[in-house]
Amino acid sequence: MSCSNSIKSLLDIQDPNVIFDEDCVEEGTYKGKRCKYISGKLTYTPTHCVKCGIKNTDFTVYKNGTQLSRITLPITGINPTYLLLQKQRFMCQACQSSYTAKTPIVQRNCFISQNVKAQVILKSAEAQSLTSIARDCSVSPATVQRQINQAAKQFIPHYKALPKHLSFDEFKYAKGEMAFEYINAESGDILDILDRRDNLTIKNHFIVNYSLTDRQHVETVTIDMNAGYVSVIKELFPRAKIIIDRFHLVQLINRSMNKCRIQVMNQLRMSNGDDMKKYRRLKRYWKLLLKKRSYLSSVEYKYYPLFGQRTGQSIVDEMLNYDPVLKANYELYQKLMESMANKDFEALSSCLTNAVPSAISNYMRTSLKTLRKHLPYIENSFIYPYNNGRIEGNNNKIKVLNRVAYGYRNFQNYRKRILLHFKLKPSVKQQEQGQSHFDAA
Ligand SMILES: [Zn+2]
Repeated sequence: MSCSNSIKSLLDIQDPNVIFDEDCVEEGTYKGKRCKYISGKLTYTPTHCVKCGIKNTDFTVYKNGTQLSRITLPITGINPTYLLLQKQRFMCQACQSSYTAKTPIVQRNCFISQNVKAQVILKSAEAQSLTSIARDCSVSPATVQRQINQAAKQFIPHYKALPKHLSFDEFKYAKGEMAFEYINAESGDILDILDRRDNLTIKNHFIVNYSLTDRQHVETVTIDMNAGYVSVIKELFPRAKIIIDRFHLVQLINRSMNKCRIQVMNQLRMSNGDDMKKYRRLKRYWKLLLKKRSYLSSVEYKYYPLFGQRTGQSIVDEMLNYDPVLKANYELYQKLMESMANKDFEALSSCLTNAVPSAISNYMRTSLKTLRKHLPYIENSFIYPYNNGRIEGNNNKIKVLNRVAYGYRNFQNYRKRILLHFKLKPSVKQQEQGQSHFDAA
């Protein structure tokens, strides 16, 4: 390979009209920083005049001087790299106009190479701050944001149609502020992000962007129990079934069981040796109390510190005997867990509607109340296969992005960044799904 071709291959320049001489690389400074300058020439014989369109025969269009541009390239090595490109100027005898030679390396009137722009976009999809992307690509943070805005255009929702199954959630963005996010529950595609999550904002968004007919097509909306979206969903999507995310149900009763254990534990007197022993055991084996009973062995003996050689079930039984409240809670907890695992709605509702044992903790009582209130939506979660797993996964990614790419005061810029982040790096599952909402738009 010739020297010129080697340099082109190194810089990823495919334009055949660009040539490099030997000794074209020079060290220098730009804006006080060390950098590398690579000098090249761009020239060719045009087939016709770009201004009037006349065919170039017998030097109708002739070469007339050059123009030097400094083009930012992706960094080669550790310092910024600039291409000093001598661009050919052309003069047309027919129309008396002059113009500069073109190259796919840069867009017209632009000094940042297309490769740098592509690099900016790729890095924006990663969890990296604007300033660090700007530094890595030797451009300004404003340029980075401009590129993100450009690239995000194709991902900005067009609100053409709503999928049949939606999933709602919220996430924190700036200090304490909550944003609202809704996705396609089947594909996991982010449909849009709103800067607020109050009912009015949500209502306005859906009413302005989607017609009633469109909203009537929505069959299910999955939400978590804590969010107060029920009334707004009923209004916006008259035919949709509300599904309470099952993970949150399990989490709720899990927590109340655990809180009950801590309450019982803290009532034990530290001065009493026997109580102290119970305290230590309850503290150490909290996980066994939360486990489904069927997962605990009644035959396999293992060594448990604080207990000795025992089976899992016998340890749990002994701990339950420390306190009647703990025992009553445990029994109810197990029944609830079992009914949810088996998707047995009748068992669940009888747990909730039957007389609650009086020995139960206040935490469990509150949880039961919450469950009772959402009972019809819980039933839907047993019928439909949708859950908030996808959207929760998204939120975790957003949290990572927040941590490193912090400092978005402008919500719209932040929204574009998130859209880019998810659309450019779709999960394997999403790729399998093929056509997304955005492709269709
Ligand atoms: Zn011309």
